[in-house]
Amino acid sequence: MARTTKVMLEAEVTRLRELYIVEAAKVKELSSVDDWQNERTIDGERAYPLFSMTAFFEKDWDSERKHKPSSWQIDGMPEGRIKDRSTWSARGFREWPTEGELTKWSRELWDGAIERPRSEISRILNPTNLSLVVTFQGWAVWWLTWFQHETFDVGLDDEGVLASFQRHCDREIRKAQYAGREPSLMGAEDRWRWSGSEPNGGNDDRSPPPCRCKFCKEAGIVRIGH
Ligand SMILES: [Zn+2]
Repeated sequence: MARTTKVMLEAEVTRLRELYIVEAAKVKELSSVDDWQNERTIDGERAYPLFSMTAFFEKDWDSERKHKPSSWQIDGMPEGRIKDRSTWSARGFREWPTEGELTKWSRELWDGAIERPRSEISRILNPTNLSLVVTFQGWAVWWLTWFQHETFDVGLDDEGVLASFQRHCDREIRKAQYAGREPSLMGAEDRWRWSGSEPNGGNDDRSPPPCRCKFCKEAGIVRIGH
């Protein structure tokens, strides 16, 4: 879902792990944001504003890694240090989030990743000059994470949820056809792939879609794996 960035929030943070110092948090309004923020429906269904998050930072170059850093990563950097970035996929918000909510969310994503021992982020060596940039991606009924889609549980029964997801896939396929590209659905275009996961939400624990496991219930979402 490549869209022009309409709203960008930057929270610049100077020290990691021990103490965060938010130096600046600002919303850049590039064009008629009011219109972009108006609540909307798609094919008669409630749609949600989607936001992704990208962390920009500097770190030690781990020479154990086989791949060489790109030129943008070493430009202007001292020996042994490189620039890097990491992006989290977009998720929906029930309502248009405030600047404070976006800052809190982006910091929680980063904190969560850096605390999780096996995450890619937790292996970053001596990160400094962190900027967390939240980008508005547009409105949608469903959003894609990693080989699964989610939306908020608005009380539809299973049949209603599957019909809603089918409409979403059909829209994405049509959009891709117009644009002359493959749909970015990670396999959801094939309905036979759709699955749920009960009762513990594990990847190997497949059941008919949609997933209404305890984690989905806690988050107030329904999920379809594929
Ligand atoms: Zn679930």
